[in-house]
Amino acid sequence: MKIETLAVHAGHAIDPATGAVSSPIHLSTTFERDTEGTYSRGFMYTRNNNPNRQELEHGISALEGGAAAAAFASGTGASMSIFQALAPGDHILAHVDAYYGTSRLLREVFQRWGLDMSFVDMSDLRAAEKALRPKTKLAWMETPSNPLLKIVDLAAVAKIVHTAGAICVCDNTWAPILQRPFDLGADLILHSTTKYFGGHCDVLGGIVVSKVENDFFQRIRSIQYEGGAVPSPFDCWLILRGMRTLPWRMRAHSENAMKVADFLSRHRKVSRVHYPGLKAHPGHEIAAKQMSTFGGMLSFEVKDGRDAAMSVAAKIKIFTRATSLGGVESLIEHRASIEGAGTTSPEGLLRLSIGLENAEDLIEDLDQALG
Ligand SMILES: *Cc1c(COP(=O)(O)O)cnc(C)c1O
Repeated sequence: MKIETLAVHAGHAIDPATGAVSSPIHLSTTFERDTEGTYSRGFMYTRNNNPNRQELEHGISALEGGAAAAAFASGTGASMSIFQALAPGDHILAHVDAYYGTSRLLREVFQRWGLDMSFVDMSDLRAAEKALRPKTKLAWMETPSNPLLKIVDLAAVAKIVHTAGAICVCDNTWAPILQRPFDLGADLILHSTTKYFGGHCDVLGGIVVSKVENDFFQRIRSIQYEGGAVPSPFDCWLILRGMRTLPWRMRAHSENAMKVADFLSRHRKVSRVHYPGLKAHPGHEIAAKQMSTFGGMLSFEVKDGRDAAMSVAAKIKIFTRATSLGGVESLIEHRASIEGAGTTSPEGLLRLSIGLENAEDLIEDLDQALG
């Protein structure tokens, strides 16, 4: 099946009890045991498994072309399960430009738990190779990155990491559908389903998809129900509903973002635009090779720094000043002040999550805010 057909049908089935076309939401926390003591219908207690969670896991796993998936209550909860599946003394290689929350989780929680880590710029393959150690067990790739939209060559990094016997995780939150990490060598895919999968800024979730069902994935599965950071049935239902329109939304997000990036790159008050769809972007060629379109996220730098950037954000009307991304509504964010101390975001940078409004309205809004 093609991706649009998979998105509509994967994880969905007509409810055998009622014929309902849309899945019922199973709020029950506990399930009946058979007279002889077994659970022939497959469900026992909702932390272990739940019909809506199972549908979501089957759906996203099929969409990514994986063998299995484990859903969590947030993207960060899903990331945490991957790190918890490692052992003290193991070494992790992470992209220096990984999502701020992921780097912070590694530094503030997992360093204390005895994980070793190196942050390297994975767009520099030499640097990635040099940072490998005998105890490197896992590499964390993320592309396009946040908020500078740096591009990592997934296939090239995976090859280097596999030679060292480690596994590759790709945080694919920013480019679902557009990028197929399993085809490029990733062993695990992470999504914050809070973003494009949910698609409407109204549900929090995360998922780990595994290319094969191996021991490492079994550890993640056991952390899911022993740790208990599971999503609610309604959250699972909302995320799976979001997935049905995901390929078409991603296409429209990308189309709009390309137009906005084009406009900004020609604006006299803008010094830089970070969007991999622009030919001038340093990662454009690799992005064109590994992405079908360039996604809905971009950032730009205003010429006069922090105050000028804050003033654009203050004058904007259609964009909402808010963090997060991937919803139908466009958002604008001054990333440096959200990340706070230790941020590497330029002070004049604004990050845009381009929504599904008409691109002409978004451009007009940016134009008036830039003044
Ligand atoms: C938002 C985000 C996360 C974290 O997900 P939450 O659902 O907020 O916990 C991880 N990675 C990326 C790239 C994100 O954008």
